[in-house]
Amino acid sequence: MYQRRSIGDNEPWLGQMEPFKISDNIYFVGSFQESCHIIDTGEGLILIDSGSIYTFYMVIDNMHRMGLDPRNIKYAFYTHYHGDHTGSVNQLKYLTGCKVVISKADEKNAFEESGLIADITVEDGDTLKLGNTELRFIFTPGHTLGVMSVVFNTTVGGVPYTAGMFGGAGPNSLKKKHRSYYDGCLNDYLNSCDRLLKEKVDIFIGNHCWNNNTAEKAKILKETGKNLFLDPQEWVKFLEFCKTRAKNTDPDGEL
Ligand SMILES: [Zn+2]
Repeated sequence: MYQRRSIGDNEPWLGQMEPFKISDNIYFVGSFQESCHIIDTGEGLILIDSGSIYTFYMVIDNMHRMGLDPRNIKYAFYTHYHGDHTGSVNQLKYLTGCKVVISKADEKNAFEESGLIADITVEDGDTLKLGNTELRFIFTPGHTLGVMSVVFNTTVGGVPYTAGMFGGAGPNSLKKKHRSYYDGCLNDYLNSCDRLLKEKVDIFIGNHCWNNNTAEKAKILKETGKNLFLDPQEWVKFLEFCKTRAKNTDPDGEL
């Protein structure tokens, strides 16, 4: 008998989402389980995470639905090495010819995980400029050894704002049974949150939908036109939540 399983690799379509615009030039093109975002810089596109090999077809479809040509992607930046972010890297790279960007610290694991070969490795404080957008990378290890967060300029209705993403917020890898666990990961994670708290971010972009309630906000945006992504408080609230939750995570607990 056919059994419905949870959203995952077996039935990625259960997480299908409509694409939408978060700001004048940031587009959500991912799925419920794997967030992927396009920045249209005016001189080409930057993709933040391309998702797993299973959900990649939805990213391409969503881009076309938004009038974005995947072949116009110049850079794909990967927040960390896990396969739900990097799994489709070579499909993307061979389709578009884009340059692949990841932190120096996660490069080796990304190759082992997904066959990712970096064109550019970035370290804390590095920047990447394309068209009207400059990404600034902030090294925020903890979830993996090499999580890289990013802040960049955008506009909403022509008004300038700062967008930001915590590149790896999940506390699952703070448990010893997780393959990404390492000595000192909790300390790194908490320090990473503190570093990000120093950034002023008006538009918090989720690394997964649960980070910023992407799906709920998208629904409200579609139905009422109210853009709840623009919220200077949310970044701070989320990072404080992450700190508390990390401190309460039992390193010896089950995954
Ligand atoms: Zn991860």
